[in-house]
Amino acid sequence: MAELKTLRITEIFHSLQGESTRTGLPTVFIRLTGCPLRCEYCDTAYAFSGGEVLSLDDIIDQVKGYQTRYVTVTGGEPLAQKNCMDLLERLCDQGYSVSLETSGAMDVSGVNPKVIKIMDVKTPASGEEEKNRVENLKYLNPHDEIKFVICNRQDYEWAKSVMEKHQLAEYCEVLFSPVAGDMAETELAEWILEDGLSVRFQLQLHKILWDDGPGH
Ligand code: SF4
Repeated sequence: MAELKTLRITEIFHSLQGESTRTGLPTVFIRLTGCPLRCEYCDTAYAFSGGEVLSLDDIIDQVKGYQTRYVTVTGGEPLAQKNCMDLLERLCDQGYSVSLETSGAMDVSGVNPKVIKIMDVKTPASGEEEKNRVENLKYLNPHDEIKFVICNRQDYEWAKSVMEKHQLAEYCEVLFSPVAGDMAETELAEWILEDGLSVRFQLQLHKILWDDGPGH
């Protein structure tokens, strides 16, 4: 008999995509429980533990209950659960347009290439800089996105140097996002303009609209 594949899930909900180039699109979010990182600014600590064990069939059935083709698999760190790869496969097979929000600390080499990876590069102020896996860069596709959450000028300078060192803009779109609360958004926008950086500035739409909601 085939093994029943399951995942521990914190929540499945329907909302507007708040980040990435898909901002504003009605999307179903599947938030997997657990994360091996502890970023200073984490806004989803409630997903570190708890949750409910669901079969992949149950998860797909819940997703089908919504009227959208866009699905985002997020966390926590979704790739910390090995069956996440099977969920991504199943969603792609069902014809969904799937994005995956990942910390950049887990191996992304096995992710279905149809999936849009939104991969963080953790800055010094996150406290998790040493977890970045540089080797993940070679598994990025042009439709993927690299995201820096910037907490201060030091983070900004660091992100600029990482971009230059690894020529990140050559891989895919690069997102600069000010950390919610602590960083003046306008300041970051002005630094980007002054330096003529080839990045996309973004604000978290769900925080503007509802002051909470899906984050990573
Ligand atoms: S921000 Fe993301 S990667 Fe960092 S601790 Fe929170 S869930 Fe984990």
